[in-house]
Amino acid sequence: MAIDVVNPYEVAVAQFDEAAERLGLSQAMRAILRKPQRELIVNFPVRMDNGDVEMFTGYRVQHNINRGPAKGGIRFSPAVSLDEVRALAMWMTWKCAVVGIPYGGAKGGVICDPHEMSFTELERLTRRYTTEISILLGPNSDIPAPDMNTNPQVMGWIMDTYSMHRGYSIPAVVTGKPLSVGGSEGRLEATARGVQVVAREALRDLRMAPEDCSVIIQGFGNVGSISARLLSRLGCKIVGLSDIKGGVYNPDGIDVFAALRYSKEHGNLVGLPGTEFVSNSELLEQPCDVLVPAALENQLTGRNAARVKARLIVEAANGPTTPEADEIFNERGITVVPDILANAGGVTVSYFEWVQDLQRFFWSEPEINSRLESIMTRSYRAVHDKAEEQQTNLRMGAYLLAVSRVAEATEVRGVYP
Ligand code: NAD
Repeated sequence: MAIDVVNPYEVAVAQFDEAAERLGLSQAMRAILRKPQRELIVNFPVRMDNGDVEMFTGYRVQHNINRGPAKGGIRFSPAVSLDEVRALAMWMTWKCAVVGIPYGGAKGGVICDPHEMSFTELERLTRRYTTEISILLGPNSDIPAPDMNTNPQVMGWIMDTYSMHRGYSIPAVVTGKPLSVGGSEGRLEATARGVQVVAREALRDLRMAPEDCSVIIQGFGNVGSISARLLSRLGCKIVGLSDIKGGVYNPDGIDVFAALRYSKEHGNLVGLPGTEFVSNSELLEQPCDVLVPAALENQLTGRNAARVKARLIVEAANGPTTPEADEIFNERGITVVPDILANAGGVTVSYFEWVQDLQRFFWSEPEINSRLESIMTRSYRAVHDKAEEQQTNLRMGAYLLAVSRVAEATEVRGVYP
């Protein structure tokens, strides 16, 4: 039986190695880009509501900062590990390069189960974690953002904690904040808006009309639920949805607004009227034209890739496809829009938020959306053209573009001292 690589950092390094080989990068450049530049591990106490003190472990990893300050989300989850954070940091480096925004890659995470914690416990955990990693943070050095289980409120606490230590407000230290403290219009929807744009472009290349397409989305959080709304606005029929509790499927279509209301009311999608329950793994194998993994890593593997029915996979999540599954999709002629391109809308509008904060000058939502649209469309086309030119798939096209940009910046800056 085939063995899947499940360590996300090994996956990330294997993807990089392939691109480096194709680009003919020197051994020295490969050695530099294979490893994260900085890795901080913090163990810290948090006082719980019942008076007990619990210890937590968190990470902040900066993979490469040659193209600009480190940028990347913060994840709260029991599954967080140093290798996961390393992989996500490396993917951030390539993601920023592929859409041409002037950042390096970083990621952070805390091992915790936010669903088992109260609002005030989460606030204390966030503030202490921010303090612990503040030796790295700063508007010119390292700028966090939301990721799994973190949201604008958490970003607001990060901004406040960092600002309290300095004695004045520094909104540009973090993005994805609420509008009232320097957040940007359009940030909440940005990742999903990017997913919509690349899905539209890829469907056009495949000569598939959105109105004729059925879509399954795994994950119904920030990215998944808004992608469902925006893809249905594009004309697609949403036939399957899921969250951590399981999936719901109806080949005749699901009313996304009803699903949003139901999920808000019940805390999950299970039991949504007019749908059949399927497990998360079954959902990925149901008939559809477009599959959007929008939850977590390693969902499409050597074990299920042969049974996936979709013609197009748009990776809204980071690292949802293992290299083994990628190979199977390649052989089967299934197009995969890779994560470093497909979900780059989030970091793009984070960049807009940071620019607005630094200038103290804010743009309107239509302005944000139209700039995002043009960056995502241009980036998709550049990746597509690179893939055609090199006779490879979109993932390798994206890696070839991104890695060569980062390698060029690293080469130009030289080895210090
Ligand atoms: P979120 O916490 O808002 O939502 C995550 C969703 O996944 C929830 O619906 C949750 O129930 C579901 N989920 C969790 N575990 C699951 C499992 N085992 N099986 C099925 N579903 C499960 O997170 P998000 O911000 O929407 O992020 C989702 C993905 O998108 C992550 O991979 C993240 O790294 C990536 N991403 C997010 C952003 C952003 O701006 N938020 C940007 C780029 C990439």
